[in-house]
Amino acid sequence: MTERDSLHRFLIERTNVRGEWIHLDATWKALLERAEYPAPVRELLGEALAATALLSATIKFSGSLTLQISGDGAVPMLVTQAQVGFARSGEAEGHGRRTLRGLAHWHGTPEERTLRALCGNGHMTLNIDPGQGGERYQGIVALEGERLSDALRDYFDRSEQLPTRLWLAAGEQGVAGLLLQALPGEVPDPDAWERTVALADTVTPEELLELPADQLLHRLYHEEDVRLFEREPVGFHCSCSRERVVDMIRGLGREEAGSIVAEQGGIDVDCEFCGAHYGFDAVDVEAIFSAEGQPEVPRTEH
Ligand SMILES: [Zn+2]
Repeated sequence: MTERDSLHRFLIERTNVRGEWIHLDATWKALLERAEYPAPVRELLGEALAATALLSATIKFSGSLTLQISGDGAVPMLVTQAQVGFARSGEAEGHGRRTLRGLAHWHGTPEERTLRALCGNGHMTLNIDPGQGGERYQGIVALEGERLSDALRDYFDRSEQLPTRLWLAAGEQGVAGLLLQALPGEVPDPDAWERTVALADTVTPEELLELPADQLLHRLYHEEDVRLFEREPVGFHCSCSRERVVDMIRGLGREEAGSIVAEQGGIDVDCEFCGAHYGFDAVDVEAIFSAEGQPEVPRTEH
């Protein structure tokens, strides 16, 4: 039986190669509840979700990592995001709460699975926001290759970051993935990276989706000495809130917000990620712009 909504880190001993393994079930179903995705769009969204979780596990941070795809094809926009909140005092150091959310827009009934067929001319953006005033990072790459894992490979080959490869699979019931990364520093076994990548290239989507972490790693690396770390739970969570919607309405400006209220009697916002509804009547909107009702929150420039 597969492990549910889990992330595992692993190391290949006596090499500079480390990895991450992910399997998502309930988290994935929570995303699928929000829209009737055609199969190829669902696959791409699932692969992006697995990739986002894996990438978020390679950096020690608390904040958000967002993968966004924009293009002129049948899927003009896709976004997946991992949020990591790190230990409050009293909790074990390094045990963050990792949550995911995501969605895709599409039109027509796409049938082909390739990136080009789904996204047309497009690009992929990776954003890391460490929160609390930390420095944001953004990387962009053109969408090339058959699958998302090819675009990610391209991204890492072109960037100054650590050599990194991902293998991704998405089904109706779950999504799964494997990530390998070569750590910097002295390399005790110079062939390890190529050897472990070549072995991972033999993995099938069925194996990724069906085998638990220890069995998958045994299947790939039974001749290596693999150290598998404890399971980390992952779940669906949406970071939307009434406060954020208030900020957005404030960002519209008094005039624009007022004209929406005049037209529609209030402002209604539905979160596309989780379906939460935020309603503001004329008095609520007035309060947002009245200095007395809602003191202006100082805005920090980045
Ligand atoms: Zn939401």
